[in-house]
Amino acid sequence: MQVQPHDEQRIVAAIEAAELVTSGEVRVHLNDTCSGDPLRDAQKQFQKLGMHRTAERNGILFFIALESHKFAVVGDSGIHAKVGQAFWEGIRDHMVPELKEGRWIDALELGIAEAGRALAEHFPYQGPSDRDELSNEVSRG
Ligand code: CA
Ligand code: CA
Repeated sequence: MQVQPHDEQRIVAAIEAAELVTSGEVRVHLNDTCSGDPLRDAQKQFQKLGMHRTAERNGILFFIALESHKFAVVGDSGIHAKVGQAFWEGIRDHMVPELKEGRWIDALELGIAEAGRALAEHFPYQGPSDRDELSNEVSRG
């Protein structure tokens, strides 16, 4: 599947908007395929991107395998301790209908906004001292 520059710009804009109100970090990784277990792939990619290296362990990764039509959302221990397993399942459930229609950018925008709201609630923006700990650029496999 072709990913257009415009698609990536929309994703980056969604991440930037989410991170305006939280110290938490959101990243998106796009792959063509998936090993069969998107959650495992997402966890691997999380490590590979060094996403566990945030001060408050509040990074969230959206992993999408475009050709395999698989995806997963994983959050680090800090945010996971606040929201619990049901939260990740909720995001998933909200994204699935859009993904099924092939609207994966819409799905991501929705998921990122939802992740951003939860991060903002538990990890509010820290003002001028708040660093962009993880790049907002889309990571590609
Ligand atoms: Ca930050
Ligand atoms: Ca960031």
